[in-house]
Amino acid sequence: MASSELPEWMETDLRQIREAGLFRSRRIFQPLAGGRCLLDGQTLVNLSSNDYLDLAQDPRLVSAASVALSELGVGARASALVSGRTIWHARLEEQLAKFEGAEAALLFPSGYAANLGVISAVAQEADTIFCDRLNHASLIDGCRLSGARFRVFRHDQLEKLKRELAKHTDAGRKFIVTDSVFSMDGLSAPLRDLCDLAEEFGASLIVDEAHGTGVYGGNGRGLAEELGVEDRVTIRIGTLSKAVGCLGGFVSGSEALINWLWNRVRTQIYSTALPPSICAAACAALEIIQTESVRRARLHELSRYLRLGLKERSRLTVPASTGPIIPVILSDPALTMQVARDLQSDGFLVGAIRPPTVPQGTSRLRISLTCAHQREDLERFLKALDGSLARNGESR
Ligand SMILES: *Cc1c(COP(=O)(O)O)cnc(C)c1O
Repeated sequence: MASSELPEWMETDLRQIREAGLFRSRRIFQPLAGGRCLLDGQTLVNLSSNDYLDLAQDPRLVSAASVALSELGVGARASALVSGRTIWHARLEEQLAKFEGAEAALLFPSGYAANLGVISAVAQEADTIFCDRLNHASLIDGCRLSGARFRVFRHDQLEKLKRELAKHTDAGRKFIVTDSVFSMDGLSAPLRDLCDLAEEFGASLIVDEAHGTGVYGGNGRGLAEELGVEDRVTIRIGTLSKAVGCLGGFVSGSEALINWLWNRVRTQIYSTALPPSICAAACAALEIIQTESVRRARLHELSRYLRLGLKERSRLTVPASTGPIIPVILSDPALTMQVARDLQSDGFLVGAIRPPTVPQGTSRLRISLTCAHQREDLERFLKALDGSLARNGESR
């Protein structure tokens, strides 16, 4: 039996986490239709999900998954190279390549594993990685694991990045690594400028489209498509766990690049392949993303509507982003938590994001929309937000 005694350092650490008000508690969410979920017996409008196109519970995905499930069982039984790669993995790779307009694609157990594995495989100790300061943890961890030199840049200060790139004239390779859409701000990376810089200084550009796939671009391929720079990005990484409504990471690119990754990326080689049922569901999702662009249009229409409503409330700070991730910066962490609690009692689940996830003084509500939400939900949300801010303003 495991000891019930926690090592003292862990006790101390837990106490410090609690004292800082940063303890993360776990709850049980039951997803419901219409962009809602059930939490502690209360139905909430879920404004904190990444299921942007409302595909996770789509009957076509469920049915595709169940067919593969009864044919092939639950687990993949081995890593892809050993014996885990089934016909559904091959179909998904092919469909992803076609969707992305690339020669080939490679699957990973998650987007996290894709970022960690790809960056640590391409960059070595002699190299330098330029990493946006708002990048997702998985990109940062990949940079660290690679052992390469690590420089943080701000995409609103590209002159500085340019000077840094110019300084590094040694033999090592250079990589610029960025999210296409930053997850806590909803801001878009300046991909055109980054392509220019990468080309000028002989750097490779690695872009994570986790929040771009399905959401941006005429065909839903992401921000690189929207900005017309797909062919200029060295490595494009995506996830199937957000707008695609499933699970798994992917890279798309030339046959040669994909061959190299198959042979070099450890998070792919040494991890069990995705369940075949997930691959079948993702195939169905990609089909829907390409044929039902109305979902994307509706998502952006709702996003514009809510942003406009928030901007009319001139005391609120809302970053100049587009798309379904909408932060409302309240600055004070205690106020942020209180407003999120008030909204929850009024029937809305929103993220309350505090440091260290975001910089000091920028605590925020993080709203994310799906195409299943209704304008009426958002009207009620704005009223609830007004009510909470008025109450908390008065009591301060
Ligand atoms: C969610 C996310 C990931 C991780 O993807 P998973 O498939 O959930 O592991 C990677 N990058 C960014 C920017 C993300 O938001």
